[in-house]
Amino acid sequence: MTVQRTFSILKPDATERNLTGAINAMFESNGFRIVAQKRVQLSRHQAEQFYIVHKERPFYGELVDYMISGPVVVQVLEKENAVQANRDLMGATNPANAAEGTIRKTFAESIERNSVHGSDSVENAAIEIAYFFSGSEIVG
Ligand code: ADP
Ligand code: MG
Repeated sequence: MTVQRTFSILKPDATERNLTGAINAMFESNGFRIVAQKRVQLSRHQAEQFYIVHKERPFYGELVDYMISGPVVVQVLEKENAVQANRDLMGATNPANAAEGTIRKTFAESIERNSVHGSDSVENAAIEIAYFFSGSEIVG
């Protein structure tokens, strides 16, 4: 196992319901270190580019509208095997299918308003981290 970094977003449904501390507590109690974090309002362009892989999916337009509907918290999380460990802690995309104890089972409202984003590969983690953070903003 090697220490990895993964990219995380606390989505607008989480900031709206004042859940940023509760979700961060789940990260920290599960051994993640939050090595970078900032609260931002995504522009439409940023949200469109971030989710460009889903451009042809029927939910793309609504997803972009949702992601700019309020502030988000972008983060870098560090832990051994962080990418997969965070996918496991987040739970399934649809909270109806998410396991007990996961963030999405605990907090998500719907398949769209599912509280958190987490990188799905080490390669994408590096791309997503670089999209939002400069090296000097990440303090391990
Ligand atoms: P994940 O976030 O689990 O990696 P995806 O990459 O498949 O999931 O989808 C990106 C985001 O798009 C999801 O987290 C969710 O907010 C939204 N989404 C995914 N599938 C749907 C859907 N069928 N309807 C509405 N929104 C969706
Ligand atoms: Mg994804």
